[in-house]
Amino acid sequence: MANRTATLYIHYKKADGTWAYAKPVVKANGRLKPLSVLVEGNEKHHPEARYKVSWYKSGQKRFEDVGQDADVAVAALNRREKALEAIAAGLEVKGEGKDKGRVSVSAAISVYLSDAKDGKAPKTYSSRKRTLELFGQSCSKIFLDQLETRDILDFRGFLKRQGFADRTVFNHFETVNSFLRANGIKDIVPKHEWPRFDEKPVKKYQPEELAKLFKVANERESLLFQFFLGSGGREGEVARLKWPDIDFKDKKVLFVSQQGASTKNRKSRPVPLPDRVIAALKKYQSGNRHTEYVFPNGQGGIEGHFLRVLKNLAHRAKLNCGHCKGVGEKKQQNCKEHAVCGEWELHRFRKTFASTHLHNGANIRQIQKWLGHHSLDVTLAYLADEDDTSEPVRKQVNAAFSRSLSPR
Ligand SMILES: [Zn+2]
Repeated sequence: MANRTATLYIHYKKADGTWAYAKPVVKANGRLKPLSVLVEGNEKHHPEARYKVSWYKSGQKRFEDVGQDADVAVAALNRREKALEAIAAGLEVKGEGKDKGRVSVSAAISVYLSDAKDGKAPKTYSSRKRTLELFGQSCSKIFLDQLETRDILDFRGFLKRQGFADRTVFNHFETVNSFLRANGIKDIVPKHEWPRFDEKPVKKYQPEELAKLFKVANERESLLFQFFLGSGGREGEVARLKWPDIDFKDKKVLFVSQQGASTKNRKSRPVPLPDRVIAALKKYQSGNRHTEYVFPNGQGGIEGHFLRVLKNLAHRAKLNCGHCKGVGEKKQQNCKEHAVCGEWELHRFRKTFASTHLHNGANIRQIQKWLGHHSLDVTLAYLADEDDTSEPVRKQVNAAFSRSLSPR
């Protein structure tokens, strides 16, 4: 009878320098204690250890390396067991036997996550990890090259059955597609099959609100949000920004794209900065020369709490709308008393950036480039609710036809 169980081991280096397999440590809540090894009743953390899924095939013990992340390892174990069950049930699992040189889904997930751990804000890492755990639960294929449109559509169905909100389904779906793109699998799902959600149009900030906000800001807050406003940068891009990415001579910032697994296919995007922002950055740098990141956290690493900083600042500036209820900690706070107002979002700076440029004569292609949108459609949708009756837009429209529409 075919053996349909797989086992998870942890492969670690012993004190004498040799490598051995052991059982991973399971916590009381049933989850693995990360990189912990149980030897003769004693548990010990082994940062060098790796998880391995093991199973029997034709009487031989086989191993698959599934990386260092405990949750990813458990997902890989589940996937292997599903595949073994399929074989036991007489179903064909493609690729068994001649799988040398093929990339397993688990290995690809573990590489993608370890890249995210190195280069991304902790929040990005944990949200990707969550998505790929879900994908691991939904996907029954062993190898990347077995993935088909159907598998990704099944994932969409899986998410819906879990009861996620439309927006969340979309986000998970999008993350899995980025993961696939990073592995060279492009556009596996046609656009019309993507999950949909009703997007609330992002509002821009009004100049009066921003003036009040900047009035009570300290130097760091002021520079930080002037930078968000003046560069249109995304949260993650601003968090990862390093001093050499600021070109003081040509007065621009270079946002380095994190898309793509290798540095070779990474593109960077220059965005011109206002003189005032450049001057403020220069001044700030002279007091903070030793930092690697432009806006580091207290330990000098990547700051993951810009939104918190903004909400606190808005609260101090008495700019909360006063209508948000059941939000924040344990969903029991309101924005009358707490720094939790939903009106204050980082993304609104990006929208304000785009809209301000539009109304001051920048053309939509330029704005697309500065925002780093791959397609012009995205930029058009982004600016769709812009007021077409404003003075600058009227001027642009009139100027465009000034020669062809001459009065009779
Ligand atoms: Zn509010």
